[in-house]
Amino acid sequence: MEFAREPVLTSALGQLSPTSAKPWRKISELRFKRVQASFKRFRKESKSKSQLMRRRTIAGNWKMYKTAQQTAVFFEQFNPLIEGVGNCEIVIFPVSINIPTAVQATEETAIQIGAQNLFWAREGAYTGETSGEMLHAVGATWVLVGHSERRQYFNESDTDALRKTQAAIEAGLMPIVCVGERLDDHKAGKAGDVLIRQFAGGIAGLTEEQFAKIVVAYEPVWAIGTGQTATPQIASQAHSLIRSEAEKRFGREAAQQLRILYGGSVKPDNIEALIRDPEIDGALVGGASLDPQSFAKIVKAA
Ligand code: PEP
Repeated sequence: MEFAREPVLTSALGQLSPTSAKPWRKISELRFKRVQASFKRFRKESKSKSQLMRRRTIAGNWKMYKTAQQTAVFFEQFNPLIEGVGNCEIVIFPVSINIPTAVQATEETAIQIGAQNLFWAREGAYTGETSGEMLHAVGATWVLVGHSERRQYFNESDTDALRKTQAAIEAGLMPIVCVGERLDDHKAGKAGDVLIRQFAGGIAGLTEEQFAKIVVAYEPVWAIGTGQTATPQIASQAHSLIRSEAEKRFGREAAQQLRILYGGSVKPDNIEALIRDPEIDGALVGGASLDPQSFAKIVKAA
């Protein structure tokens, strides 16, 4: 049985409304209308198939790469390559200080911009941190939470992920909550246990209303930046497990609406096989998102 699925773009549209923009944050009406048109087209197409499908998302995590100038150059090359492409949502996560450059460079496109991290407090004596509200104010509409590099190098826990997810939603950002097992857990056949634990600690504590506003990314740590992609079968099984945990906690309809992206060495030559699997709703792409040509190929194949 299929459930009506409301694409998350609804809330992104709310955030993009010119009327809700801060006076000094210029989001052109043209950009808003384009995103709105793509959303309407999507709803019409989906309804004509008598169901509302989960909207695909292709997201690029740039990690700590690219200066402001390199960010601008990327979009000069990338924007024309994806003009008219409406098959999926496109989100880029540049380095935080380059978010305004990226927002400006994508103003007349449907590309959305996100931050790679946020802090859970709204403001305060937290040297070096940035709140969701501050990121939203400079034009970010998405944010990554609990990326494995944050867990590995900055000791972030599932509890941190939960608090950050709640803060992101509160600030009007769409969080992509990242989960995934390390190589030793993978080899020991404990991937499922890790995912269940990460879901319980990082996601299950959300309210139903909050849960409807997140996207999850399954990113097996052994596949990130290694060139060793999970097979579509491995990814699909992990996604099914996450969805079944979601169903236990939030009910079948909410679980069916949840978008789950795959991340880990996604490239132009493996995206088609991955995206063909009905459990895979898109991709979180690291290395291959840094190059406009290769990221455009991934976007077009999705
Ligand atoms: C990532 O950084 O989330 C990622 C998946 O990286 P890569 O595509 O390079 O493996």
